[in-house]
Amino acid sequence: MPGADHWTPDEFRQHGHEVVEWVARYLETIEERPVQSPVESGWVRAQLPASPPEGPEAFTSVLADLDRVVVPGLTQWQHPGFFGYFPTGASGPSVLADLVSSGLGVQGMLWATSPACTELETHVLDWMVELLALPDRFRSDGRGGGVIQDSASSATLCALLAARFRAAGDGPFDRLRAYTSTQAHSSVERAVRIAGLRPDQLRSIGVDATFALRPDLLRAAIDADVAAGLVPFLVVANVGTTSSAALDPLVATGEVCGASGAWLHVDAAYAGSALVCPELRWIVDGLEAADSFCMNPHKWLLTNFDCDCFWVADRVALNGALSVLPEYLRNDASEVGEVIDYRDWQVPLGRRFRSLKLWFVLRSYGAAGLRGVVRSHVALARGLADRVTAHPRLQLAAPASLGLVCLRHVDGDDATRWLLDAVNAAGPFLVTHTRLDGHLVLRVSIGSQRTRAEHVDDLWALLDERASSVGRS
Ligand code: PLP
Repeated sequence: MPGADHWTPDEFRQHGHEVVEWVARYLETIEERPVQSPVESGWVRAQLPASPPEGPEAFTSVLADLDRVVVPGLTQWQHPGFFGYFPTGASGPSVLADLVSSGLGVQGMLWATSPACTELETHVLDWMVELLALPDRFRSDGRGGGVIQDSASSATLCALLAARFRAAGDGPFDRLRAYTSTQAHSSVERAVRIAGLRPDQLRSIGVDATFALRPDLLRAAIDADVAAGLVPFLVVANVGTTSSAALDPLVATGEVCGASGAWLHVDAAYAGSALVCPELRWIVDGLEAADSFCMNPHKWLLTNFDCDCFWVADRVALNGALSVLPEYLRNDASEVGEVIDYRDWQVPLGRRFRSLKLWFVLRSYGAAGLRGVVRSHVALARGLADRVTAHPRLQLAAPASLGLVCLRHVDGDDATRWLLDAVNAAGPFLVTHTRLDGHLVLRVSIGSQRTRAEHVDDLWALLDERASSVGRS
């Protein structure tokens, strides 16, 4: 082919080994770097030539630029001192599965475009129903089933589109109303916008002292809307809110949804991974009432971004909302109706072979291995929470939940801000912040694959020391 100088299999093999070696070395030495990138804005671009290369460059010089340009500009998400946001998985089996997925280069929009891509995904999502002890109605052998979305944000959007389709078909949508707590992730508000609903079609419901949705307020808001001739079509409950991992009560929320006919979507993007542990499954008591549920293995289950598992109890509304069939996608298998075409379960048409990485992770760790990881993080978080509770200058800002500890300085927001900046300036840690009840809060999210007790001990030593010397630097 003129102009195209493809690698031979041997060249791919050689450079592939170099890349694996590079990644292994990066991870092996990750603790030598500060967690946060020290570079100023624009530094990375300033290292790059203004124009793309006219001719091919040596692959070694591409790899060298990873060290020279890319790594200095990274937040080291896999660093054991990464306590920010929520964790993101990148275990060995998962990384290698993504390599396989890229190497296969298949596009799984239809069953017919790669049967293994669809059937492995369906099977692994059924495995996950068992692994997490989710209600059987999410299994694919009934009316429900699971799909891997790129993100929980996409899952929420799909849930909203399915709920809207169930309530109003193709429209009009003016009278529809959705509900979620004041603590819900911003993706709910974005889904409403993306779907073309007005901001006032989303009601924000108050929370209790643990930052969990108050079902009595939800019921009151729904009753008022129904009395005004409006139609409640969706409630998004959060199991593990982003700010404080608060847990909305699903039993009471489900009862309100059942009475009003609203679709109940449960967003457990972070907390859902905890369900591998039987002793933590109480956090989703009442999930049987949910119409859809999502959790992100790419957060806490050792799996690379992007991998959000999304299940529906009845796929008819989801497929009804998302299915458009042009002539060029018609095929015999779809016509017969015995196969799943995942293009009807998501917003984009095309899709990567994402289930490979979850399959590799499940087989490489087993349920017992995954339980061990979650339990160790939860135990570390409990230990940290106990130290905060006993400290004279610090206090918990919310009940410690799973691997997340939210704390603040007793002297108020300025002191908390000073503490946050002091911890992050030290180098080996990243903690992030939020606001709860109007107060600034420091979040310590424990979930990195490499975080061990000594890393939490070191963080605690710094917190303890700086909390006692707030403002004295
Ligand atoms: N929902 C919750 C509760 C979250 O905490 C987050 C992210 O932290 C999201 C949704 C968004 O996740 P994603 O990046 O997969 O869209």
